[in-house]
Formats: sequence, C-alpha cells, structure tokens
Amino acid sequence: MNPHVLFWIPAALRLVLIWTGSAVLWYFFGPIVGLLAGLALTTAMTVMQLYYLSALDIWLDSPRSDRLPDGWGAWHAVYAHLYRLNHDEEKSKKELTEWLTRFREAMNFLPDGVAIMDNVLFLEWCNPVAEKHLGLDLERDKDMRITNLVRVPAFIDYIILGRYDEPLEMKFNDRYLVLQIVPFGNRRQILVTHDRTDLVRTEKIRRDFVANASHELRTPLTVINGFLEVALAQPDLDRETRLAHLRMMKEQGQRMQSLVEDMLTLTNLESNDYPLKREAFDAPELIGGIFHAAQALSGGRHTVSLEMDGPQTLYGSADEIRTAFTNLVTNAIRYTPDGGSITLSWKNAEEGPRFSVTDTGIGIEAKHIPRLTQRFYQVDKSRSRQVNGTGLGLSIVRHILLRHEGHLDIASEPGKGSTFSAQFSRRILVP
Ligand code: ADP
Repeated sequence: MNPHVLFWIPAALRLVLIWTGSAVLWYFFGPIVGLLAGLALTTAMTVMQLYYLSALDIWLDSPRSDRLPDGWGAWHAVYAHLYRLNHDEEKSKKELTEWLTRFREAMNFLPDGVAIMDNVLFLEWCNPVAEKHLGLDLERDKDMRITNLVRVPAFIDYIILGRYDEPLEMKFNDRYLVLQIVPFGNRRQILVTHDRTDLVRTEKIRRDFVANASHELRTPLTVINGFLEVALAQPDLDRETRLAHLRMMKEQGQRMQSLVEDMLTLTNLESNDYPLKREAFDAPELIGGIFHAAQALSGGRHTVSLEMDGPQTLYGSADEIRTAFTNLVTNAIRYTPDGGSITLSWKNAEEGPRFSVTDTGIGIEAKHIPRLTQRFYQVDKSRSRQVNGTGLGLSIVRHILLRHEGHLDIASEPGKGSTFSAQFSRRILVP
C-alpha cells in the first residue's frame, strides 16, 4: 500500500476516536461536556504537534542523527524518515572526507608538484612539493592568481599563449623546472612541476669533465705530434737531440697514460655498475706497504716516518683504500721539496680510524682548500705538470672515502706544510 495512505489512516483514526468519545460524553452528560471534552482533546493534540514542530526546528539548527528527538504518532514516521536521510548523508560525508584525506596523503608522496587552479587561474590547492618548487604557501596564497605568485616572464607567456600540449622548461629560485598545465573538468587547470636540477647539474659536470679531459689530453698529444713532425722533417738529426725528443715524448705519453688511468678510476668509482666490494683486510699491513713504496718513491730525498697506532682489521675495499692512501702519500712527496719530512700516521680518533699524511712541503692557501677535490683543480698548473699531476688524485680520494662513509680533512699553511687526513666512521670496523 502507498506509504502516504498508511500515514493518514492512524491520524484519521485518532480524530475519529476523539470525536466519538466527545459524542458519547454529549449523549450521557449533555452537549457542554461533550463539546468541552472534544475541544480539550483537540487543543492537547495541537499543542503536542506544535511541541514536536518546535523540537524539529531546534534540531534543524544542528542536524545530527544521534540528537534527533523521539516522536509520537505521525511524528514518529517523520523523524524516522529524517533519521535515515541524515544518517545516509553523514555516512557519505564521512566517506568523502576519508577519500579526500587519502587523496591528499597520496599527493604528498608524489615526487612531482601538483597545483590545482580554477578557470581564472586562481590557486585552489597544491601539494608540498609544488610549494617547494614554486615558493608557494598554500595557506597564504590560496585564491591568488598563479601569475602573481610565479612572476617569471616565460611562465606568464606560457599561460597567455596557452600552448599546454608542450611542457615549459624554466629556471626558478635556483631550480631547473619542467612545468606542464593540464586543463580538466569545469575549465579548471592542473599544474604539474618536475625538478630537473640534479639532472641538469650532472649533465653540466659531465660536459665539463669531457671538455677538461680533452683539454688535458690535447697538450701531451700536441707535444708528441710536434716531435714526430720534427723527426719526419729532419731525419738526419743528431743522436743526442733525437734521444732528448724521445725522452720528452715518453714523458708526455706517460702523462696521457696517467690521465686516462685516473679518468677510468674516477668513472668506475662513480658508476653504479661498480658497487663497493667489502672484505676484511689488515690495515697496518696495507699501510706498511704504502710506507715502503713512499720511501722508494722519495729515494732518500725526504725523511719518511710512520706512526702506527690504529685498529687492525677494516671492512671495505682494500684496493680502493690503497689507491686513496697512496694518492695522499704521493702528493706529499711531490709537493715537498728535498730535505723535507713526511709522516704517515694511523690512529684511532674519537670519530673512528684516521689515516693522516703530514708534510713540511709548499702548503696551500686557504682559498684553494675547498676546491682541491674538484676534478682537474690544481693550485699551480705548471708546477703540477712538472710532477706529472693529473688534477684527479684528490677527486678519487674523496670518492673512495665517500664510498666508505668517510671524508677527507685538509689542514695547510703556505710555506709550512699540509696534513691530509682520511677520516672513517666506526662502521668500517664492523663486518
Ligand atoms: P695532482 O695530480 O695535480 O696532484 P690532486 O687532485 O692530487 O691533483 O691534487 C690537487 C691539487 O692539490 C694539486 O695540484 C696541488 O696543487 C694540491 N695539493 C695536493 N696535495 C698537496 C700537498 N701535499 N701539498 C701541497 N699541495 C697539494
């Protein structure tokens, strides 16, 4: 049966009951009693209806299902109906809020920035990555026009021209960003930002490396070619000059070989294809070997001494650590004039094991120190060339130490000498 008919039947029955009762009273006690009783009962019913109506009015101020009043008669059906409606709405509101929270959480984990703008490019919402990329603050900048927030001419042109099928590359706040606007829905727009700073920097480092390497290799090649041309043009050169030329060509050949070897070492250290091979090795034995090689390389021109007080077993790549320590010791010998002294020391510092090489050599001005580990950086190019330096040695040391969770400390005073220390953390002592 139609539910509205069911609503009217009990209401009609109640009215019939009241007027039947009044008629009975009229019959037994006269018309006044009957009419008064009928009037009193209808008034009571009207008051009751008004009471439930006012309860409904109060409830509508803050409609929550658990606060819905209990009704009687027809009101019971009305309240039950309202309860169902309100309960369904609360449920879908809760589901929507949960979904929105999950969506925002997911957006916060995105590696790219996302900003949502309305049809006139006013900022509606953005994730923290977009805040970082574009220098925005959602709380402060909400409902502001994006072109007033990101004041970059290239970006403003991109928006004005509206060629959104192509991304825009631009530099903003020291970052290289790739931006793309995607229109969606009700003429809204999504702005996606991607940070390419690391990639651009790596590309630049690679380009600089190739340029520097070519430049460094060109010098010895030019020298060798020059002597070869002389040899071809003047086949009757005397034996002594010829030998002198050959010696110089050999020197330049060796320089090229050192350069290529150092470049390969550096490339291998940086490559992901060469993960660190950790093994247990005896540090005093390794350092002892380096000490003897240093004495041989110095050939008695310096006083080379060794202080051995550090731990025995290390866990890392013995080959790499030998290369790093050897580079430091070779530099000390190269940049210390004859008669100077060089001390190798193996200690257990507070932070962890420490290998230091102290020399009484030419020293380095403070302004050069932070740049010494950059590839091809040399304080005095001609001096380093004389000692067959490549400018890559300290870069290699830095990389090897980084791979072993260590770092290089440099202390130096021009004219007095330097101390280069390879500092490891205690983790190198654990397998
Ligand atoms: P190189 O092969 O030219 O020595 P490195 O990367 O090993 O290249 O060192 C970079 C620069 O640091 C050197 O060219 C030199 O100027 C300076 N240097 C390194 N070690 C010492 C040292 N013990 N004393 C003085 N200068 C040094």
